[in-house]
Amino acid sequence: MSEIMCPRCSNIVSEVLPLETGLIEYLKAAGEAEIHPAVCGNCQNEIRSSMGRGGVLLAREKAKEDNRRRMWKSRVGLIKKARQAMLNKSFSEAAVAYEKYVRILEVVFDVKPGELRPELFKDSARTSELTVVAGVYWDLLRIYDTSDKYGPRQQLAAKQLANFLRFTPIYPDIVKKADVFSRTARNPAAVKLFLKAAGENKSRCFIATAAFSHPFCEEVFALQEFRDKYLSHNKLGRAFIKIYYFVSPKIAEFIDKNPGCKRPVAAVLRRLIQYLPR
Ligand SMILES: [Zn+2]
Repeated sequence: MSEIMCPRCSNIVSEVLPLETGLIEYLKAAGEAEIHPAVCGNCQNEIRSSMGRGGVLLAREKAKEDNRRRMWKSRVGLIKKARQAMLNKSFSEAAVAYEKYVRILEVVFDVKPGELRPELFKDSARTSELTVVAGVYWDLLRIYDTSDKYGPRQQLAAKQLANFLRFTPIYPDIVKKADVFSRTARNPAAVKLFLKAAGENKSRCFIATAAFSHPFCEEVFALQEFRDKYLSHNKLGRAFIKIYYFVSPKIAEFIDKNPGCKRPVAAVLRRLIQYLPR
């Protein structure tokens, strides 16, 4: 019997067999350093079983991804259902739909319950979702106010509302409404918790966010830095900030509704940013 060295494992074997094209393709895809046209029986078996495992993993990944995509789509129906229930004053039904919606986002972004963060929505296609999420927590904050048994959930909703609201143009509107609500709420402490957190979380430049369609872009950060480093350190600057936060949400809303304005406004802002001190 002739003896021969397998070029892959360097074992001395009686024969090497040519690899099927499928196995060669698999080795290429798996990033094998050197591909030999013929290897020993052991190597053949090893490659085959590794390919089987890889195939199973790939299928599992794909099923997970498909499931995520399905869930992401179904969230729209839940929001519609919840809003309709709010209109009908079926608050517990609304809460169930909203809670499912939040759970879906947690699964899609792969975070633990209660740990949804605005930064997860960085992908620009998803930033408009921030306003939806803020609206959900605002409704939940009020729904949970109907009974003391929802205490912890109401606190979480208050905290999350403050986290998300600052990235949305509905910020001043909700803060105003919450202020009124805190006077009649069953549990005013939770509403005040939100108001306090909202005051501490600095809000974004709404116009820039609307114009660039993206609350996490470089331009928005540049404007924010200018506000925090320069404007907020003198009286005139602070007065400007106050007036700005009063009028800008309306302008941002207008830009959101008239996407044609986005490009020229973004161009003006970019030019402006070039002249800001750093
Ligand atoms: Zn071998």
